[in-house]
Parts: sequence; structure tokens; C-alpha cells
Amino acid sequence: MKQIRRQPLPQDKPRESKNEGGFGGFVCTSVGYGLARPLFVAALFMLVLLLVVFSGAHRSSSLDVLFVSKDSASKDVSNSSSCSANSSTPEEPPKDDKFLGGLHSSAFNEASCLSRYQSSLYRKPSNHTPSSYLVAKLRRYEALHKKCGPKTELYKKAVEHLKSNVSTGPLECNYVVWLPADGLGNRIISITSSFLYALLNDKVLLLDLPQDMRGLFCEPFPESSWLLPADFPIQNRYWIFEHDPHSYGNMLKNKVVSNEINITNVGNSLPGYLYLHLLHANDDFDKIFYCEDGQKFLQQFPWLLLRSNEYFAPAFFFIPEFEEELKLLFPERSTVFHHLGRYLFNPTNSVWGYITRYYEAYLANAREILGVQIRIFAFANVEIDVMLNQIMNCSVSEKLLPDVSLNGSALPSITGEKPKAVLLASLMGEYFDKLRDRYYEHATTTGEVVGVYQPTHEEQQHTEKLSHNMKALAEMYLLSLSDELITSPFSTFGYVAHALGGLRPWILVRNANQNPPCVRSLSMEPCFHFPPSFECKTKRKVDIGRVVPNVRHCEDFFLGIKLFD
Ligand code: GDP
Repeated sequence: MKQIRRQPLPQDKPRESKNEGGFGGFVCTSVGYGLARPLFVAALFMLVLLLVVFSGAHRSSSLDVLFVSKDSASKDVSNSSSCSANSSTPEEPPKDDKFLGGLHSSAFNEASCLSRYQSSLYRKPSNHTPSSYLVAKLRRYEALHKKCGPKTELYKKAVEHLKSNVSTGPLECNYVVWLPADGLGNRIISITSSFLYALLNDKVLLLDLPQDMRGLFCEPFPESSWLLPADFPIQNRYWIFEHDPHSYGNMLKNKVVSNEINITNVGNSLPGYLYLHLLHANDDFDKIFYCEDGQKFLQQFPWLLLRSNEYFAPAFFFIPEFEEELKLLFPERSTVFHHLGRYLFNPTNSVWGYITRYYEAYLANAREILGVQIRIFAFANVEIDVMLNQIMNCSVSEKLLPDVSLNGSALPSITGEKPKAVLLASLMGEYFDKLRDRYYEHATTTGEVVGVYQPTHEEQQHTEKLSHNMKALAEMYLLSLSDELITSPFSTFGYVAHALGGLRPWILVRNANQNPPCVRSLSMEPCFHFPPSFECKTKRKVDIGRVVPNVRHCEDFFLGIKLFD
């Protein structure tokens, strides 16, 4: 049985830490390895147990604390060599834990972004360690960003070049500028994909962040900024879409450019930047970006602007040029977002306040947390009761939640057992009311107690408001702290939650059946909804979910593809 998830924070009282550091620590330091003889240790254990019980230091939570301590004590006495391993107190999480296996640089001022180093106190340790190659690549990227980022001489030089509106080949620093589209989930997955693109091409990623996103995330790269400076010379960015004269797809279609062009041989005829139209409704010419010859051609441009609402990272796994590099970066294919997302998206202290306050107030005491994300799209409306039925059937059949006894025959709850928590995220409040009432008005068949919580119900999407997005981010993050997750199909909000959390969700897929079962996702990766459907060389139609290993169609959207192991 799992005990309190949250590990002690540095500011927590030493009383608790000593306790959880446990009898094991006490036995080790006082007795040493030689005295691990069963009788003596058992006696010592009983003595310490009694002392703790009578000291009165453990008020209402004493039982749990004792169970934790007992476990660690018996572990220690049964295996004396574990003493040294357990001697580090939980006040200080292991170094690699705090830095997420090296994902995070140690070059930041910790107080300026508490979430970066405190996330490991709220999450279960990830089962997925970043490869040392990825860690080294991130450090190299950070150095590149620092060298080429805003305010540097090389940035100014590149901007001067851009102003001349002629591309004559790559510069020392080459840039990809991300432009926003749609809600926060869409933005997060497309930033992640753009970052992977930048990593694979040694380009520098800059974000044209609208005001409604400023204040959500800490800067991810030390001693620099990923924000596009306000005086960036291309000022009509808000209006740049597929018909822009700089649009790569458009230029290919109109035969203004071809991928065979060697930029150094064409004099001054190519513009200072190209625009990549990677929104879901783009055409096959725009999608040539995902082909190897397109990638090679674009490597020659010092400035690329890119607008996307998609998770296009899986597309790079089709490009032979990147195969080896991707293998080294992500030996586990399904961890692309999990690692890059944790690296890039650390909530600012304000948003971290929302997350930690909510967690401490409602979730920290839970034995287990089940996240449930309900997203109803206008194009696929579902009645509330139909949706709730599906959620209940899924939860009970997959043993995520106990059923309730509707005939009143079940006994009241087991005293002293910690509740299970359901963390609900939805724009609407009705689901919460009904689910909470269900577990309030009826006993469960197992005697367990289930608490239902929903941080907000904003009723409508307001992506243009920072305060709304702060809450949306807090909820994605809170969902990612769950033990298990049920998500709505097709929702990038849900994708971010499960991929950050390293969770394979149960998806509430819909079909003609009024009450279809939920489907366990193949991997924790987000789905790339609208990948190309042609083979790059021949331009013939292919089933894109069957071309390369480790990429398959998504469970929640047949046209889409996702990475899996
Ligand atoms: P998607 O539309 O489901 O793919 O996800 P997006 O995140 O791109 O856009 C939906 C937006 O609606 C979110 O970013 C939020 O602004 C809002 N929203 C949707 N569901 C929720 C929810 O459960 N909680 C909160 N706070 N906002 C939500």
C-alpha cells in the first residue's frame, strides 16, 4: 500500500524527516553492521517503537508514519548493507532526482523557479531515465542558445542579415521562430516538436509568446531567453499563414523554390526567411517539411518561422538522416515528450503556487490519485450521463475506482484508511457534482472512501487570458501527478498531462456504441493528428502507421500516429 506520495520538502519540520528517515537510520548509526543479529535488533526495534508511540510526537498521522518507519526499519535490519544506502535523509532528495537524471542544468538560481527543482518532491520518480546523450545534447544546446540568443552580437548580426531580406546560406547562428496557434495544450506540444527540430538541426528556438502565455513558464535555458525580442523586424507575424509570400509550401506549389536548390548557387534570389505552415489543416506541399529533401533544403536558411498546433515530433523518425541521432537521444522512443516536456515546461512560481497549494490541500493525503480529464468538443458532443457512465464503467472494470453499492447494503467505510482521490479536470462543473454525490451518497462495495476534487470549472475556453491559462496549466500539471489517468480522446490538454506524468492513460474513445469501453493507450506520447499520408520519394499514398517501427496509429484518432516502444 502506498503511503503519502509527497516527499518531505526542505522546509518541513525535522521531526517528520527524522521519523521517515526512520529506524533504519537510527539502527545504522547506533549499532553498526555487526549487531544485526535478529533478537537484538527486534528488541531494539520494539524499544524504539514504544518510545515513539509514547513520545506523543505523532498526533493523528502517527499510524502511517509508524508503518513507513517499520518498513524501512525491517528493510534495514534484514539487509545490513542497505544501511549506507538508506543513510541519506529524505530532506535532501538524491541529486539525480532533483535534476531529473541530468535533464535540468544546475546553472539556475533555484528560487527563481521553484518548480524546476521541487517537482521531484511531488512526483513518483520517473521509470524513464534520460540518456546521457540527451543530457549532453541539452547542455550543448544551452551553450548554443547562450551564444546566439537575444541581445548577443551573433543574434544582432543575424537580424541584420534578415533585414536585408536575402538568404545566402546558413550563418553561425540559425533560428527557428515558433508562432502560436490554438489552446495551451496545442501550444505546448508544438513548442516541444519545434524544440526537437531545433535540436536535430542545431538551430536556436525563439518563441513569439503572446501576452496570455507570459508568466506561465520559467526560462528553460540558463543565462539567456527563449522569448523573441519585441523589436524583431518581422512585425506582421500575427497574420502570417499559408498564403504568405514566404510560405515554403506555397513557394513549392508555385515552383518558386525546389528542394534541389543549393542556396549558394542562386545568387540573391531567396528571401531572408521562410514560413513553415504546420497547422493541422495544411496541404501536401506544406507537409514536404516532413520529408528528408525538404529538411535538407531548409537547413540552408538562417531564419525559419513556424506555426503549428500539432505534435509533429514523430515525423522526424521517418527521416533517415536523423535515425541514428534519435536512437541515441531517445533509446526509449516513447519518452520524447516526457523528457523534453519536463525539461522545457517548468511552471513559474505563481503557477507553482496554484499547483502546490491545491496538492497540499486536497491530494497529499490520498492513498492514490486517479486523474480524470473530460474534454467535450463541439464536433463530438456527448451527453453528461452517457459520459459519466463510460467513466464509471472504465474506472470499475479497470479497477481504478471501487464501485458504489446502490442498494445501500454496503458497510460504512473502513476507519483510518486513507481515501482515494479523483482529480477531475473539465471546463464544466456538472460532472464533478454528479461524481462527488455518487461517492458521498453511497458506500463503496470495498469500504474504501473516495474523495472527488475539481480545481476549477471555467465553463468556456479563454486562451486569450493569462489567468485562465495559468489555471489550465496548473490542472494539466496536477493531472500529471496522478497515479492513473483517464483522458478524453483527441485532446492535447490530456496529452500534455499524461506525457509529463509518464502515464499511459485509459482513453474514453467514442464510437457508435453508446457505452464503449475505454482503451489503454499504447504509450504515453501525444498523438500527431495529421501527419503526411504519402511516401516522400514517390509521393504515393501510404499507410503512415505502418512505415517505420515504433510509430503506429493513435488509439483515439485513426489518421494520427504516435511513438511507442
Ligand atoms: P484541446 O483543445 O483539448 O486539444 O486542448 P488545448 O489546451 O489546446 O485547448 C483547450 C483549452 O480550453 C485549454 O488550454 C484551457 O484553456 C481550456 N480547458 C479545456 N479543458 C480544461 C480543463 O479541464 N480545465 C481548465 N482549467 N481549462 C480547460
